[in-house]
Amino acid sequence: MFEPVLLRNVDVPDGHLLATYRASGGYQALAKALDEHTPDEIIDLVKASNLRGRGGAGFPTGLKWSFVPKRAGKPKYLCCNADEGEPGTFKDRIIMERDPHQLIEGMAISAYAIGAETAYVYIRGEYTLAIQRLEQAIAEAHAQGYLGARIQGSDFNFVVHIHCGAGAYICGEETAMLDSLEGKRAQPRLKPPFPAVEGLYASPTVVNNVETLACVPHIVARGADWFRDIGPDKSPGPKLYCLSGQVRKPGLYELPMGISLRELVEDRAGGPLPGRKIKAVIPGGVSAPLIPAHGLDVGMDFDSLAAAGSMLGSAGVIVIDDSTCMVKVATRIIEFFHHESCGKCTPCREGLNWVVKVLRRIEAGQGAPGDLEQLEALCKGIFGNTFCALGDGAAMGLRAALVHFKHEFVAHIEERRCPYH
Ligand code: NAD
Repeated sequence: MFEPVLLRNVDVPDGHLLATYRASGGYQALAKALDEHTPDEIIDLVKASNLRGRGGAGFPTGLKWSFVPKRAGKPKYLCCNADEGEPGTFKDRIIMERDPHQLIEGMAISAYAIGAETAYVYIRGEYTLAIQRLEQAIAEAHAQGYLGARIQGSDFNFVVHIHCGAGAYICGEETAMLDSLEGKRAQPRLKPPFPAVEGLYASPTVVNNVETLACVPHIVARGADWFRDIGPDKSPGPKLYCLSGQVRKPGLYELPMGISLRELVEDRAGGPLPGRKIKAVIPGGVSAPLIPAHGLDVGMDFDSLAAAGSMLGSAGVIVIDDSTCMVKVATRIIEFFHHESCGKCTPCREGLNWVVKVLRRIEAGQGAPGDLEQLEALCKGIFGNTFCALGDGAAMGLRAALVHFKHEFVAHIEERRCPYH
């Protein structure tokens, strides 16, 4: 039986308060890190745990931290990416609303490891309760000496600032987020240099997701082996899965990394709605290619999903049943990407505009022969040719819909209507 780790406090009354957090052992990992470990030892511990970034890309966290130059000089920053713009994703919000000290403790340990004295939480502006709870938690942590100067009697100084986003999806892209923090229009930067070397105000900056940082106190408290023993060795740990769409029990689930998508959807989340069958599942937010119903026996971890032609992404699992038109799904998703494209690079800005026009006419029953080839050519022009992953996500998702549900697109074009309504 898997005991929740990250969600252990979320249903506890007043779980967002410092007293509740401390009663469950909170801030002991920070004390242990400061008393017993050097910063490099914490980096080695996180490396040994095989923790991989929970924002979506799954980059090894300890390795990212180790890229931060050791030399003194420029200040180093920690940025917590709490923008959580990916449709179908709400895991970070729950951590921040219900157990914000878990994040603050994770940030303090991570900042100690990389040598940062200042951190920013870049949070989605719509997350009003999470913002309020984080502000309250930061004030409480300051008052009790878990933040501020000479934390817990050590030489470590650390402050956390909250920065609210204004509703642009692109601000979740780490370099666009850094531009936004600097007061500029948010647009992705060319990488390299990666933020770990040249990030906020051209200084070394580690950008980590909320869930990633929340894992850190548990690794320090319970050890790298404990963490690696949960789920696949190369992609281990407790994992938050956001279930939404046409499923009986939508909600946030914490289970080991690597659980099968079928078990997650059919057993844990109760399966399809009465009288319905699952048609497809998007496993990792709309940036992740959909998986048709026959492919659900895949592990929910970075490597297994990549091998299956999709990705774990933000673990926003969206269930689609047989009452839904896949042309409509694809059109709504591409409309989202088109609307949120920052416009910096031509393939994304112009390509998605063109794709939306073709999809809308197919959906309206006005598609023409050659439209599917046109869509494929447009995906080819976008994929791999953009500054950031936004265009790639759109192109990969559309390609998956065209491969697995081509018959639905063809039916719209041939029958000149939507056969599903
Ligand atoms: P990426 O693979 O380019 O980078 C991942 C992380 O690793 C970054 O922090 C990057 O700086 C670092 N990195 C990679 N190579 C490095 C190197 N050689 N040296 C130093 N650092 C290096 O991916 P990305 O563009 O940051 O993220 C894409 C993912 O974001 C997608 O998988 C998608 O699922 C996810 N996403 C999540 C949300 C959300 O709300 N959580 C929203 C949109 C997209």
